[in-house]
Amino acid sequence: MPVTVARSLDHALAALEEFPEALILAGGTDVMVQINKGAVSVDQVVAIGRVPELQGWRREGDWLHLGAAVTYSEMMGEELSSLVPALAQASRTVGSPQIRNAGTIGGNLGTSSPAGDTLPVLFALDAVLTIRSSTELREVPISQFVVGVKSNTLQPGELIEKISVPVLEGPQEFCKIGPRNAMVISVASFTLLADQKENRVRSCLGTVGPVPIRSMEAEDLLSNSVNWGENTVSSEVLDAFSSLCADAAKPIDDHRGSAVYRRHAIKVLSRRAASRIFIEGKS
Ligand SMILES: Cc1cc2nc3c(=O)[nH]c(=O)nc-3n(C[C@H](O)[C@H](O)[C@H](O)COP(=O)(O)OP(=O)(O)OC[C@H]3O[C@@H](n4cnc5c(N)ncnc54)[C@H](O)[C@@H]3O)c2cc1C
Repeated sequence: MPVTVARSLDHALAALEEFPEALILAGGTDVMVQINKGAVSVDQVVAIGRVPELQGWRREGDWLHLGAAVTYSEMMGEELSSLVPALAQASRTVGSPQIRNAGTIGGNLGTSSPAGDTLPVLFALDAVLTIRSSTELREVPISQFVVGVKSNTLQPGELIEKISVPVLEGPQEFCKIGPRNAMVISVASFTLLADQKENRVRSCLGTVGPVPIRSMEAEDLLSNSVNWGENTVSSEVLDAFSSLCADAAKPIDDHRGSAVYRRHAIKVLSRRAASRIFIEGKS
């Protein structure tokens, strides 16, 4: 199987222009599982793991730009943990150290699994993806990129170059439920971000629908009910918020959990996340 090991972004894009249907290989933690199972047939591979332009991250004002080849271990690093805590928390729950050293944010997006742990965080942040081919560059909001179960709008010949997210002021929480505490695929997850500049919360439900789900009704309720000066919220509002989040879930029954359990999990996780961010009891 011919493999192009790209040494630069131009090299990768030229290879993808020549072989638009080539498999893009980053960390290989999803792709190699599929190849080893014989679930995909591959004629050409473009390996992008060593492309310098896809590595690292930079901050520009209130925006953070993450190269598509940034790994989970890097997202757990001290600086990124303080800039986007929820992304670091999500990264900590992924696989094992080996998987976190190899697996990338671009690969999580490329797979677009409903259980992909960075996806709900990126939805809550309204992340913007920069997608390139040899002839075009487009900037795509994440909600227009992930469009179904393992389905996205990447076209042949294109790759994800970077992911841009706002740097928010305020605490963030990512909570995930699985059958055990480590090496576990999500059964349900919940992301909650406080934006103390805008006095708004942003949230997202993970693994309880074909794509991550935001409940604007739940976000509006919590945003409008929090006492932002004192960082407090009443127990009644937390109850109502978690009920709205659970109502927004569109879970299925599968071997990892029933729809009923998943909806309940969202209710528990959303209340837990909100009571970690805000002081409960006073309105
Ligand atoms: C044991 C194990 C545990 C795991 N645990 C978790 C977990 O807890 N949570 C979780 O979310 N995932 C988990 N995964 C899945 C996997 O590690 C992640 O989805 C990871 O982010 C994939 O990244 P990668 O770089 O390895 O992608 P690859 O396997 O290299 O690629 C994945 C897909 O993305 C495409 N792709 C990669 N980079 C780009 C790019 N820049 N532009 C366009 N397309 C691209 C590839 O063509 C492919 O379709 C686990 C996997 C294993 C094997």
